[in-house]
Amino acid sequence: MIYLDYQATTPLAPEAREAMLAWLGGPEGTGFANPHSPHRPGRAAAAAIEVAREQVAALLPPGGRVIFTGSATEALNLAILGLKPRRIAVSAIEHAAVLDTARASGAELDVIDVDGEGLVAGDAAIVPETDLVAVMQVNNEIGTIQPVEALAEAAHRVGALFLCDAVQGAGKLETPSGADMIALSAHKLYGPKGIGALWVRDGVDLTPLIRGGGQEQGLRSGTLSPALCAGFGAAAALALKLQSQDAAHVEALWQQAREALPGWLLNGSASQRWHGNLNVRRPGLDVARLMSDVRNVAFSAGSACASGSGRPSHVLRAIGLADPDIKSSVRIGFGRYTRPDEVGDACALIRAAAAAQGV
Ligand code: PLP
Repeated sequence: MIYLDYQATTPLAPEAREAMLAWLGGPEGTGFANPHSPHRPGRAAAAAIEVAREQVAALLPPGGRVIFTGSATEALNLAILGLKPRRIAVSAIEHAAVLDTARASGAELDVIDVDGEGLVAGDAAIVPETDLVAVMQVNNEIGTIQPVEALAEAAHRVGALFLCDAVQGAGKLETPSGADMIALSAHKLYGPKGIGALWVRDGVDLTPLIRGGGQEQGLRSGTLSPALCAGFGAAAALALKLQSQDAAHVEALWQQAREALPGWLLNGSASQRWHGNLNVRRPGLDVARLMSDVRNVAFSAGSACASGSGRPSHVLRAIGLADPDIKSSVRIGFGRYTRPDEVGDACALIRAAAAAQGV
């Protein structure tokens, strides 16, 4: 199987797996201890969590705190609902974790459009009554990189806070220094599933969504998993160390894949983009048939906004594509562990299957 779905999730880095093992704990040791217990094994587990928190914080700007959550979805819910905003502005291409939460929050909602390249204008107009502006750093469907620093400034000019969903950019690009809250997910940066984080700038006040034991400075009750935290921390440290090497590797794969799929049309900007995301379309292509013909390659139908959601892509629609174009799009995602021969083989299989459809 060739895995080319790095936007959905990334493989666990061996270094992250290794860091987790000590804290999975069998009866022979005490690595299973509750990190919130005051005895020695508990304190050791708590110390491991604090090391992980520092490692994650190293991806983020100074002047804030890292709150561990169960996912980036939970982090985004905490940011939006915990702020209790009355008016929110979000980009049209946010992930459902932002869009649906903003809709459910009861706040008045303004949607900031994107252009045909999938980019929000840095000088987008923001209504003065706005309390919160949420724009993602890198889009998960088309990889476009948004001008988040400029948008954070625009938010601050009207007295609003700025929330950045940095799930697809963290560890790959610098996280935006102008944001007031930033959401991350471990499993998109070669860490484990089941853990995310919300970075909150000092002075920003949130109301918890999950109450109980008062963990995570009272903002997110529940016993933390030292193993998940340690895996997240190790993955974050590795991402920081390998950032330029990873980017160069992805760039080479991007060039290779673009050349291997001649005539396929790119969805979204080519230049303002994370090049590990190749979302392309071929007029007339039946994507469902393509995916069943190329079943030894794990990639995504470009039209599915989240695997299995069944909803057509609001992102491809927002960049102006008509339904037939949306339905003929695929997303191919690669990263640190993708080999050039895998990209070559996958593109050859995709080309051949498209040719068999006569497109
Ligand atoms: N935001 C973006 C841009 C994503 O790609 C995802 C995952 O698909 C999420 C948020 C949600 O992350 P998690 O799986 O940690 O809930």
